Amino acid sequence: MDRVPSSSNFIRQIIDADLGAGTYKTVLTRFPPEPNGHLHFGHVKSICLNFGLAQQYGGRCNLRFDDTNPEKEEQAYVDSIKDGVKWLGFDWGENDLYASDYFERLCEFAEGLITAGHAYVDSQSAEEIRANRGTLTEPGRDSPWRKRGVEDNLELFRDMRADKFKDGTHVLRAKIDMRSPNINLRDPVMYRIRHAHHHRTGDRWCIYPTYDWAHGLSDCIEGITHSLCTLEFEDHRPLYDWFNQRVAELGFLQPPLSKQIEFARLNLTYVVLSKRRLIQLVDEGHVDGWDDPRMPTLAGARRRGYTPEGFRIFAERIGVAKAHQVIDFTILEDCMREHLNDVAARRMAVLDPVKLVIDNYPEGKEEHVEVPNHPQKPLLGKRAVPFSRELWIEREDYQDKPPKGFFRLFPGNEVRLRFGYVVKCTGMKDGVVHCTYHPDSRSGSSGADKYKVKGNIHWVSARHAHAVKVHLYDRLFKVPEPGKDRDFLDDINPDSRKTVDAQVEPSLREHASRQTYQFERHGYFVPDYEGRTFNRTVTLRDSWTKA
Ligand code: ATP
Ligand code: MG
Repeated sequence: MDRVPSSSNFIRQIIDADLGAGTYKTVLTRFPPEPNGHLHFGHVKSICLNFGLAQQYGGRCNLRFDDTNPEKEEQAYVDSIKDGVKWLGFDWGENDLYASDYFERLCEFAEGLITAGHAYVDSQSAEEIRANRGTLTEPGRDSPWRKRGVEDNLELFRDMRADKFKDGTHVLRAKIDMRSPNINLRDPVMYRIRHAHHHRTGDRWCIYPTYDWAHGLSDCIEGITHSLCTLEFEDHRPLYDWFNQRVAELGFLQPPLSKQIEFARLNLTYVVLSKRRLIQLVDEGHVDGWDDPRMPTLAGARRRGYTPEGFRIFAERIGVAKAHQVIDFTILEDCMREHLNDVAARRMAVLDPVKLVIDNYPEGKEEHVEVPNHPQKPLLGKRAVPFSRELWIEREDYQDKPPKGFFRLFPGNEVRLRFGYVVKCTGMKDGVVHCTYHPDSRSGSSGADKYKVKGNIHWVSARHAHAVKVHLYDRLFKVPEPGKDRDFLDDINPDSRKTVDAQVEPSLREHASRQTYQFERHGYFVPDYEGRTFNRTVTLRDSWTKA
């Protein structure tokens, strides 16, 4: 498995050559989602690539909804996609663009092709068309309607558009070559009759263009220079060029025409990215919805505490290549850690609380200790954390009979309570750990250095603590390639969410926005449900392989 792929720059090389040769004067890319699902991590690669190239070359990137398939498309997806692209930090200018805005022009182009003898109305049934298409080893057979005259074709096509026929009675096909070794060139369908309501054009149309017909021409209409798509469209490229060139020959388009370039799609270990499977996870209730923090969607990522910067680091790190690749999920997690380590404010949180009582600390007394918000970033300031006689500490920080090398609390041992005092443990009674403290040992005081201790544990004052639920999220799938050996649902990790009752420091009661924090010694966490819940974004280190 390819962990860190070569940062091949083959797309930039093509662009450089094109600009050098004067083929294009600027760079105009596009991100063309179909509004039939929410954005997932795979889309992030495409978004960062398209918008990133536009930025690097001082060009532009359009956001174009490829809304040619009315049955599965919805306005809600359009909104969610726009939201996601913005959240990632990209700007597509004034206008949202839609392939459906070009339906009228596409019809005009289609009539042009019919008139020039490049397209015909086929009245075979869908099954006949399929049967006559041939296979990889057998050529296709011409439709009996292939020789229909231009006038008839034009009239029929107009009647198709004018709602004179039922679904499936006719299609418009390009007249290319039924014997082509490339099946995509065996008279591909350009229009089908579909009496379906479209989320933008309503019931205005009863014919809809196919992806192949609409996509390249939408690119050309917008003046896209480099049209980047995933590898499975490589065999469609001759068709992309054929359509664009034929339409340009008729004078509808001015060169230079758009150029299609394919790259390998993102595959991630432990993750499924197929829309069909993601929909299944949601519909069958295996997760709590599209924005479940375990989902590889942008909506889920936001609730998980992933950051746009982390995703952009990730896109840069994995690069783009032409060869199929599977990226290790830890690379994505490392990118999130890298950014969060830099920006996340530190807080103390006890995820598995046990009481610690300091027997010689006065009852009712309360102090505030100063705690830096980031060890390497004084500019992020300090906060005052309340300290008192009863604290919450982690259960695992106490042991009656410590194993070798355990430096935390056990009878007779001394540790520092992070940023506070040094305490000496006296043992555990009735489920409560007891200790005494050295009043002159407070961090930052002159006496502090006198105490040499190996353990340094975090704590939260019990009286001041904020009780929250913390979801410890882990990978949704327990194997690197879900579905490889059996139904992908059988590969779901049953421990992908563990919920604990935690005690966190009071400053986490008021959190301004959805901001990811580092809980010291635990990892990164983000508030949810107005701070009543925290979601674990990622652990401090990659613990999965060691678990
Ligand atoms: P569908 O199966 O519905 O066609 P899709 O994954 O192609 O799904 P689109 O909404 O058409 O979804 O994708 C928008 C853009 O995102 C396309 O340019 C597509 O190539 C790109 N894209 C989708 N999935 C990935 C992926 N895993 N890696 C990189 N790019 C992707
Ligand atoms: Mg697609």
